[in-house]
Amino acid sequence: MWGGRTGTFLRPSGWWPTGVLGRRLLNYNAASLAGSSSPRCWNCGGAGGPPRGDRFFCPQCRALQPPDPTRDYFSLMDCNRSFRVDTVKLQHRYQQLQRLVHPDFFSQRSQNEKDFSEKHSTLVNEAYKTLLAPLSRGLYLLKLRGIEIPEGTDYEMDSQFLTEIMEINEKLAEAQDETAMKEIESIVRAKQKELTDDVSRAFERDNFEKAKELLTKMRYFSNVEEKIKLKKIPL
Ligand SMILES: [Zn+2]
Repeated sequence: MWGGRTGTFLRPSGWWPTGVLGRRLLNYNAASLAGSSSPRCWNCGGAGGPPRGDRFFCPQCRALQPPDPTRDYFSLMDCNRSFRVDTVKLQHRYQQLQRLVHPDFFSQRSQNEKDFSEKHSTLVNEAYKTLLAPLSRGLYLLKLRGIEIPEGTDYEMDSQFLTEIMEINEKLAEAQDETAMKEIESIVRAKQKELTDDVSRAFERDNFEKAKELLTKMRYFSNVEEKIKLKKIPL
């Protein structure tokens, strides 16, 4: 799937600029493996640092290093920390990273490297999924700023909006045929598009309260989308 075995030997040809040194987190695997919190390779003990930027492999022994817990999804996926992402570029980066860290390429390597490749791969999948969808991307951006919208919490939604959602839910409950379902789907899709554009503008103006309100609305529509999917599955 990832271009066969040759991918095993793909290694970063040069290091990325180190950028701002992140904070060390306590639950850093390498710290316990290396017996200290100093930035050394878990395998050869060589300096060269933990994998900051794209340093997935030790420059001395080429062993795969554990994921850098200080790195956020935007940095990992080589995107600007912004609501607007180039999804084509994101997809290329995803494929590039999977060619480096996919567990298939580590089946003949040490157990540590197998474990690290699993961790990297899971992280890359999660980062890609999160940044690809506008709702999860927006929620993640807010989370990085310390703003969370707990699940099941009704943000102060205006009654007009709640009525709108109620009416769509009623329509969905009453929908008996494909035409009716398609109509509801197109209403929801148009709403999500409109909200996505509004969220984008809110982030551009650093208006995080507005972004929070709009993303909460998107989550309501996303719940409706889930219900549509469920209703489509023949029981
Ligand atoms: Zn090493």
